[in-house]
Amino acid sequence: MGHDVKHWIDGREEAGTGSTQPILNPATGEQIRTLHLGDAATVDRAVQIATVAQREWAKVSLAKRTQIFYRMRELMIAATDEIATVISQEHGKTVGDAKGEIARGIETLEFATSITQDLKGGFSENVSTGVDAHTMRQPLGVVAGITPFNFPAMVPFWMHPIALATGNAFLLKPSERDPSASNIVARLYQEAGLPDGVFQVIHGGKETVDALCTHDDISAVSFVGSTPIAKHVHATASAAGKRVQALGGANNHAVVMPDANIEFAAGQVASGAFGSAGERCMAVPVAVTVGDIHEEFLAAIQAEAEKLVVGPGDDENTDMPPVITQDARDRVIRMTDEAEQAGGRVVVDGRGLTVKGFENGNFVGPTVITDLDPSHATYTDEVFGPLLVVMAVDNFDEALELVNSSPFGNGTAIFTDSGHYARRYQEEVEVGMIGINVPIPTPVGYYSFGGWKDSLFGEHHAHGPEGLSFYTKQKAVTTRWPAQNETVEASMSFPTHD
Ligand code: NAD
Repeated sequence: MGHDVKHWIDGREEAGTGSTQPILNPATGEQIRTLHLGDAATVDRAVQIATVAQREWAKVSLAKRTQIFYRMRELMIAATDEIATVISQEHGKTVGDAKGEIARGIETLEFATSITQDLKGGFSENVSTGVDAHTMRQPLGVVAGITPFNFPAMVPFWMHPIALATGNAFLLKPSERDPSASNIVARLYQEAGLPDGVFQVIHGGKETVDALCTHDDISAVSFVGSTPIAKHVHATASAAGKRVQALGGANNHAVVMPDANIEFAAGQVASGAFGSAGERCMAVPVAVTVGDIHEEFLAAIQAEAEKLVVGPGDDENTDMPPVITQDARDRVIRMTDEAEQAGGRVVVDGRGLTVKGFENGNFVGPTVITDLDPSHATYTDEVFGPLLVVMAVDNFDEALELVNSSPFGNGTAIFTDSGHYARRYQEEVEVGMIGINVPIPTPVGYYSFGGWKDSLFGEHHAHGPEGLSFYTKQKAVTTRWPAQNETVEASMSFPTHD
């Protein structure tokens, strides 16, 4: 078994005073490492160190901060193989997929290198006679990020480069299922020249999260995970007076119009539904066929699903890896059973799949279900596995109504050749991120990422310009420099401009 995974506090690994739990390999079911969990005392120690470190860090010039992010970018590129291998062991995803999320994480480091430009305030000369006004943005202080298992590199990178570049100290609480990538990132930040205590990692689960959400000296919390926990974090941290952005779950729909290239759409929907075993917040677990293309689309998606090789993430022939836990696998099987019992047609059946040599792994095959009532939980709930529900509607308006009736609003896609319907869709759909002939419309690092409705609680989307705004607060300064001998009669009226 591998080494223990400890917290990263004040520039080194530390076991803390909490308990431990095993880290399992989803492909084999075996324990590969032991994780130390942070209790309230461990969180408090890290916050105290961060508080002192942040005061110095906020005074470091933008030029010096930027150089650290340029170095960090190079170090991350050099360490991509090491990080991707660890992610594949703990998360289960293919090594190639893990490299993809690391590359997308590096985009926000690149955004952080332009902080010299983006942190500029405004200046207006003579807003009143002899009076100037300017604005500046300052860091919040110590901020925390709590992240999900499904993107152990990319999602933390939505947060920390921008929080750090803007002068905050950052405490990361990664998922307890795949925590090791975060310790490698902490080591690389140190190598890049970030002062100790400015970026720290506290591992753990609910106890650690609740300690972060209620600690008096933490100013803001960024959360990404499932909707029930997003609501809990948003409520708890807001009640404790913190700025909060909490990104939740999803049930993304792809609408396939009758004029679409069906083969292209089926390939793209299959990649959205079954890539990373459906464990992406921008996965496509629902396809909506419009008009008379339903059976043609089902046949095309069946062909796509049936050619996928299911296996461990470190085998380069694998297309679809295991899901994260046995519970996650059992949930996909149970939701398929329930859909079938309710009259659903199982077009591709992923139940009962075993992978030779990996009998204890959390494997379930790609699954496609249709003819399901729109009230059924297998359609309405987030399954977070390789299960695609294909719904049929008669026209564009019905498709739009179905998509907009979902409580989630993270991502969606429309496949069509019609600019008219594509434009109507982007205008009328109640979803934060939209793909037009693109199945996983994850915005690039210099735009912001975020859903609507039950997919996001708080006012700010993640990373890009909204991330910069989340991690800073504005000061507006009004300045007058009267000449030493100038006399101005004081007025008791509210100041107006002359
Ligand atoms: P999760 O909600 O179970 O866990 C997320 C984080 O919360 C983890 O760090 C975990 O340790 C912590 N946590 C778990 N239970 C807790 C509790 N009871 N109290 C306090 N903290 C708790 O999510 P997950 O299973 O790790 O990730 C999958 C979910 O994340 C899916 O719902 C997916 O849609 C969502 N997700 C959303 C986005 C997005 O951008 N909206 C991105 C990635 C993942």
